[in-house]
Amino acid sequence: MDDASAMTEPGLPHARDELSARTGFGTNLTDRAAELRDHDAPRAALRMAESARFAVVAGEKPVLRRRPGGLTIWHEAGELGLLGAIDHEVFLGRDAGAGRFGVRIAADLAEALKAREDLLLLDLRAVAVQSLLPAAELGALGETKAMTDWHARHRFCANCGQPTRAASGGWKRECDGCGAQHFPRTDPVTIMLVVRHDPALGDVCLMARQSRFPPGMYSCIAGFVEPGESFEDAVRRETLEETGLVVGSVRYLACQSWPFPSSLMIGCIAESLTSAITLDETELEAGRWFTRAEAELMLKGRHPEGFTPPVHIAIANTLLRAWLAM
Ligand SMILES: [Zn+2]
Repeated sequence: MDDASAMTEPGLPHARDELSARTGFGTNLTDRAAELRDHDAPRAALRMAESARFAVVAGEKPVLRRRPGGLTIWHEAGELGLLGAIDHEVFLGRDAGAGRFGVRIAADLAEALKAREDLLLLDLRAVAVQSLLPAAELGALGETKAMTDWHARHRFCANCGQPTRAASGGWKRECDGCGAQHFPRTDPVTIMLVVRHDPALGDVCLMARQSRFPPGMYSCIAGFVEPGESFEDAVRRETLEETGLVVGSVRYLACQSWPFPSSLMIGCIAESLTSAITLDETELEAGRWFTRAEAELMLKGRHPEGFTPPVHIAIANTLLRAWLAM
């Protein structure tokens, strides 16, 4: 499945054509049915119905089911009961009227489940990079991981330290000690393709690499948005900190839900006013300008120095392709 599959996959009831929908985890078509979150009876009825389906993670590891024609994230209630005790459960919503739920079981159940031939347990990044699932299932799986991760990491009240309990179908946690309510968090991260027009080289873009990247791979730079800061100011600050480049205008292009553990990547094109790169070597081991021709060769796997682009599911890849198409 290629990176445009989210847009063109047949059978999606309302396939969308934003750039965001082309990123990994970017297609999530479950009707969230938020009006049912505070109504236990209709939610329980959906859960008891034969049509109910459950996406499952063991700790952080997705538990996929093999079926004729490929893998699926969805387990029936009877299959769910055989996997192990449920630690956290979230009401994801409805799909064609049928209930959808995200479930986390204990991480230490993964080893035993790996032995089952009808299941596949694999790191979520690998599931995404290897395009093992239909785009809409990957989106629902990312949501399940992000939400159940949040529950696992927020068992105690940040206000008074007492244990909290899940409420509203898993969409908040409440503290009986002080009455505080806690809601799932999404952390904004700006990710930017920094570009400029070079008098000699033409249009160029900046990509850089961290030491943990596969050899030869270059990608966009990125950084968390801080309190009191706009996306645009975060792009300018992070670019200056990491590369010494002074950015002028910033344009939003697309975003990507990134459940590691709960980020929202905000993809921008940033116009640099300067050309001299001074890398922050604590964050980056290399960084340089690439011409359009070089970027195209990287995407085709034919760069003469063997440089490779960001992985196809990442919004950095989407940004690079969008810039080349401008
Ligand atoms: Zn409290």
